[in-house]
Amino acid sequence: MIRAFNFCAGPASLPSTVLLQAQRDLLNYRDSGMSVMEMSHRDQVIVEMAEKAERDLRDLLAIPDDYAVLFLQGGASSQFAMVPMNLLGDAGTADYVNTGQWSSKAIKEARRFCDVNVVASSEDANFTYVPTLSGWKLSDDAAYVHYCPNETIGGLEFDFIPEVDKPLVADMSSTLLSRPLDVSRFGLIYAGAQKNIGPAGLTLVIVRKDLLGRAGPQVPSMFDYKIHADNGSMYNTPPTFSWYLAGLVFEWLKEQGGLEAMGEINRRKAAMLYDFIDGSDFYSNPVRPSQRSLMNVPFVLADSALDQAFLDGAFDADLQNLKGHRSVGGMRASIYNAVPELAVEVLVEYMADFEKRRA
Ligand SMILES: *Cc1c(COP(=O)(O)O)cnc(C)c1O
Repeated sequence: MIRAFNFCAGPASLPSTVLLQAQRDLLNYRDSGMSVMEMSHRDQVIVEMAEKAERDLRDLLAIPDDYAVLFLQGGASSQFAMVPMNLLGDAGTADYVNTGQWSSKAIKEARRFCDVNVVASSEDANFTYVPTLSGWKLSDDAAYVHYCPNETIGGLEFDFIPEVDKPLVADMSSTLLSRPLDVSRFGLIYAGAQKNIGPAGLTLVIVRKDLLGRAGPQVPSMFDYKIHADNGSMYNTPPTFSWYLAGLVFEWLKEQGGLEAMGEINRRKAAMLYDFIDGSDFYSNPVRPSQRSLMNVPFVLADSALDQAFLDGAFDADLQNLKGHRSVGGMRASIYNAVPELAVEVLVEYMADFEKRRA
């Protein structure tokens, strides 16, 4: 085995061609005689690398000019705090939708800074559906509305972009770049890179420029979006290697035909897996069918006593990291952009075979 089929939820699979390019560049990037990791972020070679990555990302997502793109650190979890620190302004309230563990964490963190109005929650049904927009109890004085379009752990995905009259803030850690997106519908989008973008250590923020500059004087410089925007994300040393690698992923995505093409492949991959699960009496997924995640597919076996045998057999078949999140158990196959259709085909074959042998 050279490369396993890797279904890890994050850090996750990266395209082999990207890793091979990084290997070729590792000791001597663009005839500089140095690795990307060894160069100053003020070096022209790195500045060009960084600018190209941003241009490619803007092309892929058709990001309008009135949005800033920030390449930060600290993960999506830091954004749980940076969003209220930067967007509250004089408001004392923010609206949050609770659809699972990641939105719950964002809510908990925001409570340090303001009154959080939970406009809707699907906790009553173990987060297996998205509450209908017409039932949301939006507040008049909220500074923004926050939600998580794809709950990585529960495998629940919004099948609509909420239409609200406040800036819409989205944690897209596990879905950004999986298909085309109308960025103009959002005030701010953030994503940790290690799911569908690149290696850990990089966090992307796409923010409408009129929302910059609202942080109060008590907000530390490193947590102020405007300072990062004004400095091209180089106020301090950025994660240069992660930025470079994400740039290679952006180039790879363009070579694949961009996000339209990726979206089609991702829909096919997810359909293959969900169709198989739904056609089986042995495997099941509890999420409302129209709101199932294209990226993270949790499923359980009819008999959880067989979980370990399932995982052991999968490992032997080079199908790795299928164990569900420690909080929910069962299985989860994360099928991000870099997980090829072949991986899902092999997984489905394995699942069918396991069912035949053990059910
Ligand atoms: C993984 C994940 C996070 C946490 O990301 P970190 O980079 O580890 O902080 C937050 N939200 C979602 C939706 C995620 O998938």
